[in-house]
Amino acid sequence: VLAEFERIGEIRRRLSYESAEVVLGIGDDAAILAPTECGQVCSVDTQVEGVHFRLDRSAPPDIGERALVVALSDLAAMGATPRAALVSLIVPTSLDETILFGIVDGIARTQHTYACPVVGGNLARGGELSITTTVLGAAPTAPLTRGGARPGDGLFVTGELGSAACGLALLLGNRANVNHPFVQRWQHPVARIAEGRRLAGVSSAAIDISDGLLQDLGHIAQASGVGFELTLTTLPLHPDLLQTAPSLGLQAHVLALTGGEDYELAFTVPVGREPPLGTRIGTVTSGPQIRVLDPNGHEVDFANTGFDHFE
Ligand SMILES: [Mg+2]
Repeated sequence: VLAEFERIGEIRRRLSYESAEVVLGIGDDAAILAPTECGQVCSVDTQVEGVHFRLDRSAPPDIGERALVVALSDLAAMGATPRAALVSLIVPTSLDETILFGIVDGIARTQHTYACPVVGGNLARGGELSITTTVLGAAPTAPLTRGGARPGDGLFVTGELGSAACGLALLLGNRANVNHPFVQRWQHPVARIAEGRRLAGVSSAAIDISDGLLQDLGHIAQASGVGFELTLTTLPLHPDLLQTAPSLGLQAHVLALTGGEDYELAFTVPVGREPPLGTRIGTVTSGPQIRVLDPNGHEVDFANTGFDHFE
């Protein structure tokens, strides 16, 4: 077991990353980023053992990767470009050192994937393992916010919905090994940075889907003072979800609407504009309700179908 300062030195070594954005990187009292004309977009996220991940279900590097990706997903939802990250780890004394370094290695590989150097952080002892990730990004000229949706706008999403939540259900039920594509989808979320950047200036409002489409649309509805009408049949689902979800006693559409963990973007586009990407799933209404319509135009009730991480 390494002494505390050796441990920190080892973490720094694993995270070392040269970047033009960084004037002074990890290792001093604080880091210095290069000046920029852009607005600074800032966000923070915490992943807690037992709530967001479990050491017996995820490899340590995957836990580290996830901690950075879910924080970056909030930058994607603003249309921002990642610049740097800060990571604060709270580690129980009993935690095996190889697990700690494994988590750091996952963060290290992910900073390269997203060109987002970790420029600092903190290591503290505590009762439960947690990873708090602060991300800094460059704002686009027209940042995406939750407040710009207007009645009549089209509602779109990137990618597919429900697969990650299905993967988590498979994992928790011991129904599939880690190589199952849906389990992989949960283990390796993707922050839609490039998509968010392309939507800046086109989209009227956006959010990343972390807690489930309906719940996250609720945030746009509230911020914009609107509602939504979604069509069940247009939800983008992986074809296998229609077989796999029922085998777990779940419905594919319920997973897609309430499962969460997708980290896709939900966004609105003004009437008469075509977004460069995404699947149309509905329309912004004057609200305030969020209604889901079946193929016959009847409203479907999705109350109390929440799917709550590991809790
Ligand atoms: Mg978010």
